[in-house]
Amino acid sequence: MSGKIIIVSAPSGCGKSTIINALIDRGMIDVRFSVSATNRAPRKGEVDGVNYHFLSDEEFRSAIDRGEFVEYEEVYPGRYYGTLRSEVEQRVSRGENVLLDIDVCGGVNVKKQFGDRAISLFIMPPSIAALGDRLRGRATESEEEIARRLGRAEYELGFASQYDVQVVNDDLETAIAATGKVINDFVSSH
Ligand code: 5GP
Repeated sequence: MSGKIIIVSAPSGCGKSTIINALIDRGMIDVRFSVSATNRAPRKGEVDGVNYHFLSDEEFRSAIDRGEFVEYEEVYPGRYYGTLRSEVEQRVSRGENVLLDIDVCGGVNVKKQFGDRAISLFIMPPSIAALGDRLRGRATESEEEIARRLGRAEYELGFASQYDVQVVNDDLETAIAATGKVINDFVSSH
């Protein structure tokens, strides 16, 4: 049986990674991450084919030309990131459920291409104000950086209605349970 495609997006600071990692660590969902491609250099400890498929500028460019990406984006100037069609298709044909942890524009694109084979989930903060409090609580960013992220979050929240399901991360455990249920219901559907 073919695997399913699960797309999860969220504005920064909404707890997306915490929720996904909790579901995987607790064995609540059976998924594999789709490994993206990038032309940025590997950071210390990063492994090719595990964290990313690390490509040269030229390799990335030819993959674009050959139409090998489901979606790709220039996330930072000159730094490209993308989802390889082969990565998703191979895993799905092996019967693996593939999870794409992807930004909002990429998520909307991938859903359009895979249609009913994919479910798209959007994790939302209870409000922009709550997100601001959460980012300040982390105390890792300056006020200026927080304002920039909130501006971006507001823009990204505008995409929420284009996703199949929205989960509000007000209480973390409730959000973990809700996300797990959406994924498992979809994976076990035909
Ligand atoms: P980093 O360089 O810190 O690993 O990732 C930088 C950014 O690239 C993150 O915001 C991440 O969401 C984005 N990114 C990673 N993989 C992909 C991908 O396959 N497609 C798109 N559109 N963005 C990605």
